[in-house]
Amino acid sequence: MLSTMQDTPLLVSRILEHGRTVHHRSKVTTWTGEGEPRRRTFREIGDRASQLANALRDELGVTEQSVVGTLMWNNCEHLEAYLALPAMGAVLHTLNLRLPAGQLVWIVNHAADRVILVNGTLLPLLAPLLPRLESVEHLVVVGPGDLSLLDGHRPAVHAYEALLAGRPTTYDWPELDERDAAAMCYTSGTTGDPKGVVFSHRSVYLHSLQVNTTESMGLSSHDTSLPVVPMFHVNAWGLPHAAFMSGINLLMPDRFLQPGPLAEMIESERPTHAAAVPTIWQGLLAELTAKPRDVSSMRQVTIGGSACPPALMKAFDEQLGVRLCHAWGMTETSPLGTVAQSPAGVSGEEEWAYRITQGRFPASVEPRLIGPDGSVMPWDGRSAGELEVRGPWIAAAYYGGAGKEPLRPEDKFSPDGWLRTGDVGVISDDGYLTLTDRAKDVIKSGGEWISSVELENELMAHPDVVEAAVVAVPDERWGERPLATVVLREGATADYRDLLAFLRDRIARWQVPERWAIVPAVPKTSVGKFDKKVIRKAYADGELD
Ligand code: ADP
Repeated sequence: MLSTMQDTPLLVSRILEHGRTVHHRSKVTTWTGEGEPRRRTFREIGDRASQLANALRDELGVTEQSVVGTLMWNNCEHLEAYLALPAMGAVLHTLNLRLPAGQLVWIVNHAADRVILVNGTLLPLLAPLLPRLESVEHLVVVGPGDLSLLDGHRPAVHAYEALLAGRPTTYDWPELDERDAAAMCYTSGTTGDPKGVVFSHRSVYLHSLQVNTTESMGLSSHDTSLPVVPMFHVNAWGLPHAAFMSGINLLMPDRFLQPGPLAEMIESERPTHAAAVPTIWQGLLAELTAKPRDVSSMRQVTIGGSACPPALMKAFDEQLGVRLCHAWGMTETSPLGTVAQSPAGVSGEEEWAYRITQGRFPASVEPRLIGPDGSVMPWDGRSAGELEVRGPWIAAAYYGGAGKEPLRPEDKFSPDGWLRTGDVGVISDDGYLTLTDRAKDVIKSGGEWISSVELENELMAHPDVVEAAVVAVPDERWGERPLATVVLREGATADYRDLLAFLRDRIARWQVPERWAIVPAVPKTSVGKFDKKVIRKAYADGELD
C-alpha cells in the first residue's frame, strides 16, 4: 500500500526561507578583532542570500549545478553563500585554506569551480595559484583586500557588496530534486589525492534536523552558538544550516581563532554553545589558566574531529564549569556520527564512563563492527573491529570529476555499500562507540595491538604535559613499538623518566613506550589534528632521536 502523505522535497531553500521568516530576529555576529562586531539578523542574511543568488545568475552566469568555491573564514557572508548557492541549485564547494597549495589547485580543478568567493584577507594565498586554476572565470572578493594582487590574472574580479547592491531581496528558488548536489567538501588527503564528498539537499536537511536534537547539539533560538570549527571543515559540522532551521544565534569568529581573541569574544558575546577540535580547547584552557576570563556562558561545547583526552574534559568541568560533549564523525558522514550525551539515570564515575566515549549512534547512522576475520562483531563493549556505517547522510561514493563515474575504492566502501570508516573500536550494548584508534595508527607490537589514543590520553593526564602524540615505529623484535612525542608545559620539571614512571602505574608494562621525544609542538593537519604522518617521517629521517 502506498502512503497517503505529501512528498515535498527536502531542500536547502526551505531551510533558508524558514530561518528568514520564522526566526527573522535571530542574529549573526561576526567578530572583527579591534572594531565593533558586524551584526545582522536572519532576515537580513536571508535577503542578502537572495541578492547573492540574483547577482550570481544575472551577472556571472551561474546556473543550476555550477560549482562555486568559497575560500572564506567563518563570517556572515560565508553563511549567505551557504544558503544562496544550494538554494539556487548551484553547488557550494568549501575550500580548505590551510591545505598545501598543490592540493588546493588539484581540488579546484577537479571540482571545476567556475567562481570563487574569497575573503580579501586571503588574496595573498589565492593570487599565486590563479595561473594554475583551469576552470575559474570569476572571483568575488568579500571584504577589504589588496586587489592589485589580482592584476594581470584571467578571472574577472567583482566586489561582493557592489555585486549585491540594489538586487531584489527575493528569488524564485527552483523546485530541485532533493537528491541533487547541494555542497561538496574534499577530505584532506592524508593518503593519496583528496577525495570529494558531495552532499545532497536531502542529506543536508536530515543532518540539520539531527544536529538540532537534544541527543546531539540541542540547538534552539534561545541559544547562541560559536562555530570555531571552520566552515571549510565539513560544513562547520552542519551548524550553519542547522542554525537557520532552529533559529540559534551565531557568533562567527572570522579569522580570529587564536586562544586570546576566542576568550575575549566568549566573555563579551556570551555564547551558550561552541564547537571545535580538541587542540583549540587545549589552547583556550592554557590561555584561561594564564589570564582568567569569564567563559561560564558556555553550557555545552561540542568537541570532536579527533579523540578528546578525558583530562581535558575534566579540566573544563572542574576549572571552568563548562561541559565538553564528545562527538565523532568524518567528512564522509556529513559529519555527524555519534554524540556522547549521557543516558538517563547515571551520575558520577558511571556518567564519566559514558562521556569519554565517542558517543551514541542516532537512528539514521547504522553501525557495524567488522572483526579481523571479516565477521560482524557483537556490541559487548569488548569485541573490537573496524567501524562501518550506513544511512541517509553517509557517503556512498566519492566524486569522480565532471562527467565521470563516482569512485568507490574497495578500502572505503564494502561490496554491500557500507562506508568503511578506517576507525577501530568497540560498541556497548546501549550503542555507545569507543574508538581505540584509526586502523592506520594502531601499533602492532608482537601480535598484540596497542592503542595510540589510550597512551596519549594517559600521558595528557600528567600535569606537566600539554600535548602528547604516539605513533608506531618499526622495531626489529616486535614489528612495531610506540614512540611517544610530548610537549611539556612551560616551566615543567618532569622529564621523560618521570613520564615513564607515571605510565607504568597506569597501563600494562609491555605497552609502555621505550622511545621518547620531547618536542616544542606536535605537528598538526590543516584542520588541527595531530599529523602522525609527519611524526613518523621525522622519526624515519632521524630527527627525533
Ligand atoms: P581527515 O580524514 O582528513 O582527518 P575528517 O575530518 O573527515 O578528515 O576526519 C575523520 C576522522 O577523524 C575519523 O575517521 C576519525 O579517525 C577521526 N575522528 C573524528 N572524531 C573523532 C573522535 N571524537 N575521536 C577519535 N577520532 C575522531
